[in-house]
Amino acid sequence: MDLVDLHTHSTVSDGTLTPKALIQYAKEKRLKAVALTDHDNIDGNEQAMEEGRRVGIEVIPGVEISGEWPHGTLHILGYYITKKTKSQNHLSQLQKARFERNLKIVEKLKQSGIPITFEEVLDEAGGTQIGRPHIAQVLVKKGVVKDLDQAFHRFLKKGGPAYVNKFRPTPEQAMEWILEAEGVPVLAHPFTLYIKKSKDLEIIMTKWKGFGLKGIEVYYPGHTPLQEQMYQNLAQRLELVITGGSDFHGLNKPDVDLGTGYGDMKVLYACVESLKKCRDEIRRKTREID
Ligand code: AMP
Ligand code: FE
Ligand code: FE
Ligand code: ZN
Repeated sequence: MDLVDLHTHSTVSDGTLTPKALIQYAKEKRLKAVALTDHDNIDGNEQAMEEGRRVGIEVIPGVEISGEWPHGTLHILGYYITKKTKSQNHLSQLQKARFERNLKIVEKLKQSGIPITFEEVLDEAGGTQIGRPHIAQVLVKKGVVKDLDQAFHRFLKKGGPAYVNKFRPTPEQAMEWILEAEGVPVLAHPFTLYIKKSKDLEIIMTKWKGFGLKGIEVYYPGHTPLQEQMYQNLAQRLELVITGGSDFHGLNKPDVDLGTGYGDMKVLYACVESLKKCRDEIRRKTREID
């Protein structure tokens, strides 16, 4: 059986393995293909692809963009980004918003009496893009909280005392940016939208399909069997591609392993073949227009 993982993070965002080490680990895990999908950032893709060619594993250059959503979390995955300069302008804007937000979070923590500095957070991130998990790790190391989960619950989660909002594109904008770069937009972990009823989700998915959404991440460690079934049915009804991934973050999500999630996830190579069909279709269309 050829297995793949279509959702992973490296040190370029909030994972703990470098893009190169991530691909080596994927090889060790005998995966046939792996997609690197760092938050709001594509800087690791070259390195990952180069390592993929070296060790003989298919690497899909990707990204995960956080979008505006009233309750819960909305993430759109983009696969096979090729027009890097087009996407880079948008991503730079997100990276700047993220940087400013991080400063404000640290400021809020300081104001509530926690001795934390921005330099400590920078060190934790190892000089690359900072995410809330890095701030959470500093709080763990200082003994303020016992683990990352507690850091989020007590301080960093949406609505928490150190939460700071940042600019996010609308879902439609996020999909447009991905399509502009010839990427394939896929809705990540749909359960975080907090939409319980299949009918309600179908209405939104139908609208987003009109904006270019091509797939739904059906296989995901946080999905219950019922949710998985619901998203699978929805994808089939709307003729959207079914994908899946672990959302591997290395030690920043210690219970989640590459390829298998909590231990029993299986994503087949057929998902990659479907994504490639979408990719070819998108390329054909954009190149006709160009
Ligand atoms: P950011 O993109 O900087 O806003 O940070 C969001 C990231 O925090 C997500 O992508 C997750 O990796 C991580 N995260 C969210 N909630 C938790 C949690 N309860 N425990 C650990 N990590 C979390
Ligand atoms: Fe993350
Ligand atoms: Fe996500
Ligand atoms: Zn992710």
